[in-house]
Amino acid sequence: MRSVTVKAGKKYEVLIGTGILDSVSELIAGVTKTKHVIVVSDDNVYPLYGQTVVKKLEDDGYQVERFVFPHGEASKNLSVFGELQEKMCDAHLSREDLLIAVGGGVVGDLAGFAAATYQRGIPFVQIPTTLLAAVDSSVGGKTAVDLPNGKNQVGCFYQPSLVICDPATLATLPDTEYRNGCAEIIKYGVLDSEELFEKILQKPVCEQYEEIIERCVSIKRDYVEEDEFDRGKRMLLNYGHTIAHAIEACSRYEIPHGQAVAIGMVMITKASAAKGLCDPELAKRVENIVRAYGLPYETGFAKEDLSEAGMADKKNTSDSVRLVIPEAIGGCTVRRIPRAEFISWLQEGGAV
Ligand code: ADP
Ligand code: ZN
Repeated sequence: MRSVTVKAGKKYEVLIGTGILDSVSELIAGVTKTKHVIVVSDDNVYPLYGQTVVKKLEDDGYQVERFVFPHGEASKNLSVFGELQEKMCDAHLSREDLLIAVGGGVVGDLAGFAAATYQRGIPFVQIPTTLLAAVDSSVGGKTAVDLPNGKNQVGCFYQPSLVICDPATLATLPDTEYRNGCAEIIKYGVLDSEELFEKILQKPVCEQYEEIIERCVSIKRDYVEEDEFDRGKRMLLNYGHTIAHAIEACSRYEIPHGQAVAIGMVMITKASAAKGLCDPELAKRVENIVRAYGLPYETGFAKEDLSEAGMADKKNTSDSVRLVIPEAIGGCTVRRIPRAEFISWLQEGGAV
């Protein structure tokens, strides 16, 4: 079993290992004394893994409550959040008890926010079952639900007590979800090093899950530890994301995050090359790896529409946009550009 220690607000472990979910009770006993827990999952993941987790915990003497909600982003709202809070209250969960989130980013974000706020905060354990959640959303402590007019508009920073990542759960992941996770991993490759970039180019991520997840979690850990509340270095994790958020918004969230990030990385790298900020060869390499993972690399949205959508992003102030410039692999920088210039970046990135 691999382990990455994160020290952000509180100290916790991200455990990574194929088959470690079999030992869920022992792993949880390492972070809490309670025998009363609630397992939160969606209706896809619960029958696949949630049920097994519940059974193991019950066999080991835990009193287990369950909260299962319909899968998909549409459930990440205040109404489902409220139902979960009421469920915890009705089950008499106390502040010493534990919430266990089993699922992808949607489950982790919603359950994490519920744990952060129920009785002003109860401990929670994340069991990510998507590649995206394993390498990204389960580390860093961002929790949230959506509002009708915006994603992740209500939430807080709240760190888990433990993350248990068992790559065996990724075997049932739909292909598109696998690819979405790979987009985020390509991002880590560009941010971190030639070595990681080449590693995922030479051999598919799914043939080296443990090593790659450990590596990505460690990279994210380093960024998060330096900047828990997302005011400085952590912004580099937004490579490809400014344009991605615009694409997602333009598509009314029909285009999944990973696909939008893939397009965003290709576009920002092309634009950086066009502006003389990086070698044009880098733009080709990014496009090639994105294509190799079967991810999209261009958008049909007009630059004006993307620009407008990008402005609504909460990371951008009213008069400027923040872009992560890939000057080289392992050498990204953050740059603020005036709002009016964003369109030219989109155009040089290939938008119509
Ligand atoms: P993400 O982690 O990408 O933010 P979700 O939490 O919405 O997104 O998960 C994406 C979809 O994959 C959901 O429909 C979810 O139910 C499903 N899912 C999550 N994990 C697994 C898994 N291990 N096997 C099969 N389907 C899964
Ligand atoms: Zn992302």
